[in-house]
Amino acid sequence: MIEAASEPGFRSLGQPTARRAVRQAAAHGGFGRSLLVQGAPGAGKHAFVDDLLALAFCANPELATRPCNGCRGCRDARARTHADLVIGSPEAWREGRSTGESIVAAARRWLLSAAGAPVVADRRIVLIERADRANEQIQNALLKTLEEPTDRHLFILVADEPSRLLPTIRSRCQALRVGPVPRAELSAYLRDHRRLSPAEADAYARIANGLVGTALAYADHQAFRDWRHRTQTELLSLVDRGRAERFAAVRDLLDETTRLGIAPPPALAGSDADAETARTPASVQRDAALLLVEIWLSLTRDLLVAGVGRVGLAPSAALESELTDVAMRVGTGPLIRMASHLERVHEGLRQNAAPKLALDGAMLIWPMHLTPRDP
Ligand SMILES: [Zn+2]
Repeated sequence: MIEAASEPGFRSLGQPTARRAVRQAAAHGGFGRSLLVQGAPGAGKHAFVDDLLALAFCANPELATRPCNGCRGCRDARARTHADLVIGSPEAWREGRSTGESIVAAARRWLLSAAGAPVVADRRIVLIERADRANEQIQNALLKTLEEPTDRHLFILVADEPSRLLPTIRSRCQALRVGPVPRAELSAYLRDHRRLSPAEADAYARIANGLVGTALAYADHQAFRDWRHRTQTELLSLVDRGRAERFAAVRDLLDETTRLGIAPPPALAGSDADAETARTPASVQRDAALLLVEIWLSLTRDLLVAGVGRVGLAPSAALESELTDVAMRVGTGPLIRMASHLERVHEGLRQNAAPKLALDGAMLIWPMHLTPRDP
């Protein structure tokens, strides 16, 4: 990274709307009671929250200069070691249970202690990561806490899937959306921060669909790039195979992706949260399935682009000849149908559909181009 340590301002990329909202709030005497930072895994929520914490804890007398990134408040905020910052998550509550204690009781106990008075700053910040992974009982306890009046606490909830939060929690929070950034902006960022060639930077920006965390994971992890290439090559080859082989292949792909997700690169597979929060096997598999569907969808879109003779525009240009070949054989109609099906599968997985079943279903729609003797 080549940021001057004390250069003021936000360090996360893009997000003009969310930035404007928090700057306005900061300028008008503080934030509301609770904020909800929401966005897809890999969108850069962690970096945005860093900025938000620095802005909130910055002690620079000049409001317009905040976050100054030079004062103690900014530094402690960015290191997440500020005395008035408490950080929790469903995973942390699970880990922090005492013997015989339920996760709900552990979460209640944590919420109670989080409500203590600030020691250095005007208010304490209670940061809850992966809030959407909390069960309903915990969310109800959280809701009670959010309902208690206090001007000495700011709650920041972070969620991949806000729809998994109780509507009553959502309605109490100011939503800050962290989403994809324009490709040119992301590409320039990758060139500056990773010293990539323009062609490489552009390729990662494209395959990441503008998600900064995902783009960095591709830029930083050869294993992740290899996995993507292998997965897409395998999917293309399945066009020539029947059901039984497809179902077996999809199980292998899910297993491999889940293994990759167990020790994920920092920005991959929803690991926007800090590294020490352990994740449950089910959530790792679900994230793996989501990632697979995203890769699959991007492959399908590339095939559509290749089908109209514009393969140079496909982010997976490394597969150029295979893309063109498959696109010509299966035709546009089935690919369009596949793309919309995958979008539905993605949505279903976000709503907790069973991963293997959802992928099997997608395999039934994936175009098949068998030789005549096959069923
Ligand atoms: Zn500062």
